[in-house]
Amino acid sequence: MSLSSASQVLQTVFGYESFRGEQQAIVEHLVSGGDALVLMPTGAGKSLCYQVPALVREGCAIVVSPLIALMKDQVDALKELGVQAAFLNSTLDWSEIRAVERDFLRGELDLLYIAPERLLGERCLQLLSQGQISLFAIDEAHCVSQWGHDFRPEYMGLSILHERWPHVPRIALTATATTHTRKEIIQRLALGEAKQFIASFDRPNITYHIVEKHDVRRQLLHFIREEHMGDSGIVYCLSRNKTEDIAEFLSKEGIKALPYHAGLDVARRAEHQARFQQEDDLVMVATIAFGMGINKPDVRFVAHIDLPKSVEGYYQETGRAGRDGLAATAWMAYGLQDVVQQRKMIEDSNGDEIFKRRSAAQLDAMLGLCETAQCRRVRLLAYFDQQIEPCGNCDVCLNPPKMWDGTVAAQKILSAVYRLFKERDQRFGAGHIIDILRGKKTDRVTQNQHDTLSVFGVGQDLSDSAWRSVLRQLLANHYLALDIEGYGTLALTEKSRAVLKGEEVLMLRQESERMASKSRNIMPKAKKPVISLPPEAEERFVQLKKWRLAIAREHEVPAYVIFNDATLRQIALNNPETLEDLSFISGVGAHKLDAYGEAIIEFLEEMQA
Ligand code: ADP
Ligand code: ZN
Repeated sequence: MSLSSASQVLQTVFGYESFRGEQQAIVEHLVSGGDALVLMPTGAGKSLCYQVPALVREGCAIVVSPLIALMKDQVDALKELGVQAAFLNSTLDWSEIRAVERDFLRGELDLLYIAPERLLGERCLQLLSQGQISLFAIDEAHCVSQWGHDFRPEYMGLSILHERWPHVPRIALTATATTHTRKEIIQRLALGEAKQFIASFDRPNITYHIVEKHDVRRQLLHFIREEHMGDSGIVYCLSRNKTEDIAEFLSKEGIKALPYHAGLDVARRAEHQARFQQEDDLVMVATIAFGMGINKPDVRFVAHIDLPKSVEGYYQETGRAGRDGLAATAWMAYGLQDVVQQRKMIEDSNGDEIFKRRSAAQLDAMLGLCETAQCRRVRLLAYFDQQIEPCGNCDVCLNPPKMWDGTVAAQKILSAVYRLFKERDQRFGAGHIIDILRGKKTDRVTQNQHDTLSVFGVGQDLSDSAWRSVLRQLLANHYLALDIEGYGTLALTEKSRAVLKGEEVLMLRQESERMASKSRNIMPKAKKPVISLPPEAEERFVQLKKWRLAIAREHEVPAYVIFNDATLRQIALNNPETLEDLSFISGVGAHKLDAYGEAIIEFLEEMQA
């Protein structure tokens, strides 16, 4: 393929009418030989930014991607479009590798996906130097960031591309966009001269919802049943055991669920991932080992039942919901225990001081997001240096929390912490402090004679859960600190003094009764994600889905690779009678028209009969 213009490629190969957002500017910049750094949220359409230039420019595009498990899907999807694509990674055997290398040297490839560790090997660098390269695309570029959540040491070596091929344009892409990560990418990949394209990071179709954790299995079950029964979703938890536990629990409750974590054997992991990709009603209960690069467009919810380590991670993980632009939910249940546990994990890790400090700061920002009385989206985007108006589509906006004067309550907690430390030179955790305030004579209280303290029993006016909420807010706003060396015990901070002295009024968020209660949910029912089709078209859509699944099985690719839901719905709605009619539908490119056009028209005709 040579000098065809970018929009022609977009229309004939991909079947899309026009570029979205900054895609066109990025494509033109790259086609004309410039370097680019592209920051776009998940689902915005990053792939086209290098796939179109790859087809317009002479030579083969080299795509660096850390996601070995997904390369095959990406390449399959391109092949379905009639694009000459291949990949090189450790899943191929020797003869397959030789075949790909030969195709590359003959100039028969448009795109070649390579895992970074392989790319940096001498054999591969040698190979590349013997062929013609149209561009380098570095996907998931945040993997080069040491402080990010996905650091891959191999990415550090990628600056060699610029040294060896100074005239080949490079494009680095990521959905992670803190200023810090961005700077690191630029520096480590030598992209100082690259033009930056930064899209808005808002994902307006995602509803954010954070609740207090009390009985997390029941809460999760309730959430899925109420809002996402029969939908495809991901549940994130911290430990491997828990993923298996929860998957089993959900299955028993009639929700199709599978576990996924790095400890499962490779075959099972691959099987679970393949099923998740293929099926449209499966819940994957996973550690964060799962999900990067999963480009399944119809994930309808992402639930966190443990606190993510950072806002960046949270944003990435929740971003896997609703890539198709249809309504989706990001739901999280968290409690103080999560914060304490993670602080301990940070302290016990092998990282150096800088690492620990940074991890603690990241956790802190996460806590801030959870405890905010502000729009969640405003908070989230502020983290990425972007400003928006309150969104109207998060739990805070939909159900604004009542504020109350929590100064006295705060003073009670702070003085309990102060007394314990002053009189006994000891620190205690949150649960114990609350027991003291509420006047509970637990064993620990009596053994330590804490029932003789003046603060004993001064907090009968609030419930346990209200006290926990006050405590979390004090932590989130730095009036209290977790003493890491004391294993998650509580300590005063510099800010505590003003409150203790009565020099500062503290307005706190009231935990709504309903939020604290067991099963009721404060969210309005999720808007049903799609514009509903008229009954006839709906029936066609259902039938077309069956047809699609059969074809997908035959080709051993995910269903959406054949046609995605949006395209299939449009076909069902338009009910085209000719190939020409069909060709006008978004997502039907020349190759797919060739491959499936007649089958679809016939299928639709038969349905009429
Ligand atoms: P990202 O990599 O940014 O998460 P993708 O490249 O996977 O996003 O694109 C998300 C979805 O949007 C895909 O289904 C893709 O085909 C579709 N898409 C991208 N660009 C366009 C466009 N210009 N017109 C129509 N659909 C598009
Ligand atoms: Zn909001």
